[in-house]
Amino acid sequence: MELSASGSPRFLKCHASPLRSSFMGPSVSGPEAKEGTFAHNLGEQCIKRNQKCIEYQGRRGYVEGTPFEVSSEMASFVQLYVDEAKRIERLFPNPLIFIERRLRLFSGVSGTADHAVIIPKRIIFINDLKYGRKIIEPDSAQVKFYALGFIGETNPFEAKEVDLGIIQPRASHPEGYVRRKLIPVNELIEWKNDVVNPALKEIRGRNPKATPGPHCEYCQALIICPEILKMIFQLLRITTNRRGIPVEPGIHPKPSILDNESLGELMRIEAVIRNLSAEIYKVALDRFKAGNRLDGFKMVQGRGTKSWKDPKSIEEVLSQMNLADSILTDPELKSPAKILEVLKRSGIDGKTAVKFLSPHINIFHGRKLVPVEDKRPAQNKSAEELFGPAKGS
Ligand code: SF4
Repeated sequence: MELSASGSPRFLKCHASPLRSSFMGPSVSGPEAKEGTFAHNLGEQCIKRNQKCIEYQGRRGYVEGTPFEVSSEMASFVQLYVDEAKRIERLFPNPLIFIERRLRLFSGVSGTADHAVIIPKRIIFINDLKYGRKIIEPDSAQVKFYALGFIGETNPFEAKEVDLGIIQPRASHPEGYVRRKLIPVNELIEWKNDVVNPALKEIRGRNPKATPGPHCEYCQALIICPEILKMIFQLLRITTNRRGIPVEPGIHPKPSILDNESLGELMRIEAVIRNLSAEIYKVALDRFKAGNRLDGFKMVQGRGTKSWKDPKSIEEVLSQMNLADSILTDPELKSPAKILEVLKRSGIDGKTAVKFLSPHINIFHGRKLVPVEDKRPAQNKSAEELFGPAKGS
């Protein structure tokens, strides 16, 4: 079982997570992870070619089949990372520079360090770009793993210290977008011996222990993990009992009746509950779309999202209305909902504005699952209703 350094903040806390995640098949990157990969590719090119990110504005590319474009916003964010990497490269003469370096660590753990600078007999700098908004600190397990990857078993560069850096341009933090932590190599090796090695032994053991907590948020095994459900229900029950309000098993209390201490305990795993709930909903909706049924639920039309049929032609139509370009663009053409507001503000009554814009708008209606008591008409048909009974049934 190969482990990834990026999963280390979780597998060091829950030793069962790698094995359980392996039951879920290969992981699929979400849109945010793919965007992060695209941003990393941009940073890598700019560091290697000594270019500014803005030179790539408007360039398109694909990550696992999803198209992305370098926006001015992305260019300015990634530039912060490129600037920090270049600053570190210039700190000492004759640095050894590693960009997107694949590292095979130890006991089957591997990872890719975004950028590292090594000054032999002195120091190892690690620069890790985090494009997400969840705060990660420079001494997180993942960054320490990268440093250990360069130190290996024998510390071939004879480094005395490691300088761990996180560049997180999209998350606001009191210490800024670039945060660094200097630690002696000996301390890092102690961490490896005292924390990492025992954890890896347990992970590879016969019955690794599951420990639920806030680190469950992105665990692939979240939906099949009994411990996390047990923890959520336990917290809900304990918290209500503390207030002396009897609750039947299986009945969820309203958060408004919880005391602050109880609510605080639940808040520690609030993101986990949110993720689990989103995953349950997604699986249920996919099953409905595939023609399955779930007792007590039906599929209805969701709210529509509007887009322009042909942005060029609506731009021409709007340009004849003598409205300033600046109120129609943002800097690109505004969405149908925003243009509707613009027209209303410029004195056109709502009904006329809707009638005027409607021929230029596409509306896409998603599907939504609701309890059968909901008044909206059901949109779902089972596979059997659509195609007739399956052969052999
Ligand atoms: S959901 Fe949490 S407790 Fe369960 S395996 Fe994953 S990390 Fe461990």
